[in-house]
Amino acid sequence: MTVITRFAPSPTGSLHVGNVRTALHNWMWARKHGGRFLLRIDDTDLERSKEEYVEGIRADLAWLGLDIDGEQRQSARFALYEAEFEKLKAAGRVYACYETPEELEIRRKILLSRGLPPVYERKPADAPVPEGVAPHWRFRLDQGAPIEWTDLIRGPQHFDPKAMSDPVVRRADGSWLYLLPSVIDDIAMGITHVVRGEDHVSNTAAQIQMFRALGATPPEFAHEALLVGTEGKLSKRFGSLGMAGLRADGIEPIALVALLARLGTSDPVEPVTSAAPLIDAIDFARFGRAPARFDEAELALLNQKILHHTDYHAVAPRLPLAIGAARWNAIRPNLMTVAEAAEWVPVFDGPFVPPVPDAADRPVLAAAAAAAPALDWDADPWHALTAAVKAATGAKGRALFLPLRRALTGRDHGPDMAELLPLITKDQAIARLSFS
Ligand code: GLU
Repeated sequence: MTVITRFAPSPTGSLHVGNVRTALHNWMWARKHGGRFLLRIDDTDLERSKEEYVEGIRADLAWLGLDIDGEQRQSARFALYEAEFEKLKAAGRVYACYETPEELEIRRKILLSRGLPPVYERKPADAPVPEGVAPHWRFRLDQGAPIEWTDLIRGPQHFDPKAMSDPVVRRADGSWLYLLPSVIDDIAMGITHVVRGEDHVSNTAAQIQMFRALGATPPEFAHEALLVGTEGKLSKRFGSLGMAGLRADGIEPIALVALLARLGTSDPVEPVTSAAPLIDAIDFARFGRAPARFDEAELALLNQKILHHTDYHAVAPRLPLAIGAARWNAIRPNLMTVAEAAEWVPVFDGPFVPPVPDAADRPVLAAAAAAAPALDWDADPWHALTAAVKAATGAKGRALFLPLRRALTGRDHGPDMAELLPLITKDQAIARLSFS
């Protein structure tokens, strides 16, 4: 069996981290099994769906490295839905309804006031049909047996169809609700695994009957616990900015992938530089039932950790020309984002004006300026320089290293000076040490 998964967003907005997580898990599952990952654009709502969002979804998936093996759009498949709908109608599994929303609301309140579940009450077969009213359509649930499946994350699931309302599948104007087209497509595309948020669990119960009514075996389901932000819900910032905002903040796509792959699972979040080890290890049995907590600070920290061992060639096209492999290796432990690398160019090549040294530090700098010209810059100049200054002034430890670091880099902290100094030209270094 070839594993086929799909990501099925509605193009009525930009992707946020919650959608991306679902897309990621579907993609990982397909890749783990050498299967296929499809993008299905759920654009049955022609009014709210926008082309710019479709393009944004494609761009975001590409940025994240979630390559797709095919794309379908529901708006191009109405003829198929019509044909399948006719089959269900002929089989009596969908039926016309004429109630107004107001009538339904009144019935609901009456049932609730009697302490009964507010389940839709079917009309008798011989109920009068109002004239001149276009019907909407419901799927007739088979109430004969419980609906059961073993969810890959939630385990055994059990629904009593008698406690469920026959779901509306088509509006009076002929437009489709989400439930039925999704099932028709999952069948047509041979979807084997549906990975989605647990807010869809009760939809799944109805959809399992739709698969069977259309003569298909339902796929496997994995319903993941929802993603929440540090304050209980996903922050507005991430909701509204989405991937573009993260990209602008310097978040690497692999950092987001690394975090979202493992968040809410019993596997640790690790600073990987490729998705391969995450794909190998994905296992829905290790996904938790509690909401997964998404923390922007955790993402920023993970991003930083990943940069620490990101190879030069992976980022070279995004670096200033002046930052070559050795310079990248020297500065990467100190970067929060790749863009910050540009701040190091003047430290290497100037223009750079060292801070005015404290009076107490001047002897160290003077000794360094005197010793530097004679040093071989190709042979560990930092250790030679500090040894010479120590011999000349008796300074050691912080009193030796800090004035030199400050004069040479303008900062109190930063990369290992032994690695950094050979990457600054000797003339630049001497000029910085020679305060006036
Ligand atoms: N368009 C649906 C949604 O975004 C798809 C759900 C599904 O995966 O079936 O919720």
